[in-house]
Amino acid sequence: MIRLYDTMMREKREFVPQDPQRITMYVCGPTVYGRAHIGNARPAVVFDTLARLIRHEFGAKSLIYARNITDVEDKILASAEKEGVDPSVITDRYERFYIEDMGALGVQPPDLAPHATQEIAEMIAMIERLIELGNAYEAEGHVLFSVPSDPEYGSLSKRDREAMIAGARVEVAPYKRDPADFVLWKPSAEGVVGWDSPWGRGRPGWHIECSAMIRAHLGETIDIHGGGIDLIFPHHENEIAQSRCAHGGLPLARFWVHNGFVDMGSEKMSKSLGNIVTPAELLEQGHRGETLRLALLSAQYRQPLSWTDDVVAQAKTNLDRLYRTAGDAEPGEIDESVVDALSDDLNTPLALTRLMALDAPGSVKASAALLGLLEGSADDWFKGGADESGIEARIAERAKAKANRDFARADAIRDELKAEGIVLEDGPAGTTWRKE
Ligand SMILES: [Zn+2]
Repeated sequence: MIRLYDTMMREKREFVPQDPQRITMYVCGPTVYGRAHIGNARPAVVFDTLARLIRHEFGAKSLIYARNITDVEDKILASAEKEGVDPSVITDRYERFYIEDMGALGVQPPDLAPHATQEIAEMIAMIERLIELGNAYEAEGHVLFSVPSDPEYGSLSKRDREAMIAGARVEVAPYKRDPADFVLWKPSAEGVVGWDSPWGRGRPGWHIECSAMIRAHLGETIDIHGGGIDLIFPHHENEIAQSRCAHGGLPLARFWVHNGFVDMGSEKMSKSLGNIVTPAELLEQGHRGETLRLALLSAQYRQPLSWTDDVVAQAKTNLDRLYRTAGDAEPGEIDESVVDALSDDLNTPLALTRLMALDAPGSVKASAALLGLLEGSADDWFKGGADESGIEARIAERAKAKANRDFARADAIRDELKAEGIVLEDGPAGTTWRKE
């Protein structure tokens, strides 16, 4: 039995899926305009670990995990303008980096990675529906969600109205009927990326993207909606309002799961504070992706995590010990004490303590895999060879592109790897790689 802390109910509850053969989980993914930092990597690793646990508990094919790519957003447009390139140059570049960086941390690609720019029709349809229902209105080329039209608005963040208006940092635009109203659609000036819509050429607001993609890919009510704690307000509150109003009052998610911040000793790691450290830099310094993954899992996901040299060094020491115990044993039985720790709201520190207490090599190996650890060989670990999981992640992404008949993308990945001196060989058992 898995128990998860649900932010909506403010309590830990037994996770009972709507349909145990089709469990749905959606996590808000990256806005691709810069390299991910360790704080951005935390939800990717946490929800990857939760996905592994759910698949262990309910079956390998039980879960559909979607994580979106936000590839239209004002920060992207600003970067594109600064570099004098098309926005797609920026988004393609940073999406590739994201897949590579998360792959190095042992994060498996989600089952679905919908891109905002490819789902505009879904968003327009949902906005039209909200206007029809009286939950949204058009004003000066914008479409706004009318917050006073939704009496349940604020149910997730439990903020009062004054706090919500202050927290949303909404500019007081003259076309807003209420200061708390938020943008569903906004006009695009000439030369700015945009799509035709019933309200003129424009582009979607950020919040509608997730609501529309969840509906299109997973359904009206999903089992788990995840993301960082900073997304509770306004992003998730707004997602809830849009979806619930469009879907006759049905809840958007049955469990709201939020991970805590990563801080740098005293303050939150954030791009705007300029105190970020990225997986790419840490890998460059010689740390292994697996070490960074374990460091990210060293605190329970809801707790803040202080990112210090000690945390990283401790993770490395623990992995040395685990690899020494496991050696190159074939995976054996997964130890129930490790499963139990993870099943209690993903208590990764307790799971690690229990993992370290095991002495049967096969059991250590199999149980560690639930945490996405010890997936490589002990030999490679102690040799300290190049981190190869980033390559594997891109091979997995190429396979997915091929399965979706996106051969241009598949070829692009092969060419990128070739430029790095990695040659892919497709065979009956899949794709292998070698150094040129
Ligand atoms: Zn979202």
